[in-house]
Amino acid sequence: MTSEAIVDLTAFGKNVRHLRSVVAPAEFMVVLKADAYGHGLVPMARAAVEAGAQRIGVLDVDSALAVREAGVGTDTMVMAWQYGPSQDFSAAVAAQVDLGVSQQHELRAIADAAGSATASVHLKIDTGLNRNGAAPQDWPALVSLARSLRDAGRIRITGVWSHIAEASEDEDTESMRRFERAIEVAGELGVAFEVRHLAASSAGLRRSDIRYDMVRMGGHCWGIPSFDGVTPSQIGIIPVMTLTSEVTSTFTERGERMAVLALGHAQGIPAKAAGRVSVAIAGRRAPVRHVGTDFMLVAVDETVCAGDIATLFGTGAGGEQTVREWGDLTDTLGDEIVTRIARGVPRRYVGSASGE
Ligand SMILES: *Cc1c(COP(=O)(O)O)cnc(C)c1O
Repeated sequence: MTSEAIVDLTAFGKNVRHLRSVVAPAEFMVVLKADAYGHGLVPMARAAVEAGAQRIGVLDVDSALAVREAGVGTDTMVMAWQYGPSQDFSAAVAAQVDLGVSQQHELRAIADAAGSATASVHLKIDTGLNRNGAAPQDWPALVSLARSLRDAGRIRITGVWSHIAEASEDEDTESMRRFERAIEVAGELGVAFEVRHLAASSAGLRRSDIRYDMVRMGGHCWGIPSFDGVTPSQIGIIPVMTLTSEVTSTFTERGERMAVLALGHAQGIPAKAAGRVSVAIAGRRAPVRHVGTDFMLVAVDETVCAGDIATLFGTGAGGEQTVREWGDLTDTLGDEIVTRIARGVPRRYVGSASGE
């Protein structure tokens, strides 16, 4: 294979078990949105269950159904929260997918779709990020509608949740305050929640006071630190994806020897990698000189020849940079680097998430 993304299920399993133990007694949700951040939704959903995860989050209903179809049973919570304007919820309710809800019309559509089944919902309050949660002024009406649908036996109110910026301690603390106020308001209206969840990778790892009953983590499960100044090993996680590519040819240009790799921005390599990141070939760094549409050029010495394997990013064990370093050097997030690797680049799964 000329290029491949090797996905280390053993590393993923270790990450999940480690993070789960760090956030305990809070529950741990593995977030598999965006095709499991480019790692592959179905294999990673199965791996998450093998690693002992009992809660999986995805963005949309289709992904949630794909997770159920992949064999993830109803003893595992699968939650979706992003919908089209005329979303049909019947398949989701039938498959016992937990549904995040920000608006009254969603709640009505879910209750209508439920038929004889009871839909499990998580009411979402906006705590400052302004990304689809109910605004504080709309919250009492949303809660009241949920209460009447609950009393009519048409929904079960499982959770209350929000998504936070995780950008600064003060902002996060302010979000917590708004979250707790929303829970109080709901309590005054006669609604209590089984599962309160607010934090994602960054705040979930840094702050025990923000974990409530559950933490939702994407980035850290992939071994990509989501806050500054730490390496993966310093926070006990291992990069899961290693991207490799075979040297297809070499040539010399203006006195510099170049190796050609068959990966370019069409395959998700950021153009900004040129002049900023290095790949590793046989343990030595080879700086990226140019990123074309479907190739890239790296500067090498005379020992490198066609057929050698270049590692673009990985754990660092072979001298390569990590995804987190790629993100820092190209002005983006590591999450975005792995998510963007084109689906045309084959994923090869190695190891076992169960840790056996
Ligand atoms: C993406 C997402 C997460 C996970 O975020 P990370 O920073 O990758 O851990 C958690 N919750 C919601 C609602 C998300 O959209």
